Amino acid sequence: MIRVGLTGGIGAGKSTVARTLTERGAYLIDADVIAREVVAPGTDGLTQLVEAFGEGILQPDGALDRAALAARAFVDEGQRKKLNGITHPLVGARAFELLEAAPADAIVLQDIPLLVENGSAPFFHLVVIVHADEDVRLARLTGQRGMPEEDARARIKSQASVEDRRAVADVWLDNSGTPDDLAALAAALWDERLVPYEGNVRNRICAPQPSEEVDVRPEWALQATRLTNRLRVVGGDTIADVVHVGPTAASAGRAPDVLEFEVRLADGKAPADVTALLADGGFPERSAGVHANADPGRAVTISVS
Ligand code: ADP
Repeated sequence: MIRVGLTGGIGAGKSTVARTLTERGAYLIDADVIAREVVAPGTDGLTQLVEAFGEGILQPDGALDRAALAARAFVDEGQRKKLNGITHPLVGARAFELLEAAPADAIVLQDIPLLVENGSAPFFHLVVIVHADEDVRLARLTGQRGMPEEDARARIKSQASVEDRRAVADVWLDNSGTPDDLAALAAALWDERLVPYEGNVRNRICAPQPSEEVDVRPEWALQATRLTNRLRVVGGDTIADVVHVGPTAASAGRAPDVLEFEVRLADGKAPADVTALLADGGFPERSAGVHANADPGRAVTISVS
């Protein structure tokens, strides 16, 4: 099983990508759908919201009046925190339940609009960002979805910047073309990366690595930061530190496109304590104390000491 986080700004094309990947067999956990589910009529979530914000947030039929809730919750930081304090744990718990129910060979796709904002990128085997420029998104949101322009602009402004998204993207899907172009990119991602990645993780197989040397690439530093954060989450308390080492950590020169890391264990821990954690996290053991990538799209070598 692998977990893939899918995100992008509002109107970027997440739903379109999610549809293609779900058609191919992804196990979708949609944060927006869950967010509606946990405050549906009759839920504990809705009861808590009414206790916090009053009966005025209900429609005559007893369902949540989203506009009325927004008018009360988005007035200041304190009210917004109160709302998130109720809904976020419920959404998290439900997403966890669905994750637990996923088959052992699932490619779990979690569509999370605020993945970048809430800092959860390192919790995924892979983060996929769908991107379209702001003016393109505005046109699509106001045109096809009929959203008032002011609302669309406000939503876009409140979300992460393009740089923040780039920093956590393992895969960047450009949606400036047609919906068919985007579907083709998503289908290729599924066939060429997600399916082999999942099989490798489940069977604890390392993907092939390139051996030819290339000039040091500027993007390696950002990729190493992402992988360092990922390894820290994967190793948890068993590791004390993760360091990017070797020729790809240099500012010039030539090296194969294989990022090298040292994972330093916490006091009292042995390499065997981290073997299964790294393997499940996407880095199977290649030889004693050395792990490598299950992901065919990003070669890494990790030595554990
Ligand atoms: P998100 O889920 O990221 O908010 P959607 O996938 O719903 O974005 O896309 C936003 C709107 O733009 C939808 O109406 C969708 O049909 C439309 N759309 C998505 N991709 C394209 C595209 N490449 N060309 C034209 N319209 C698109």
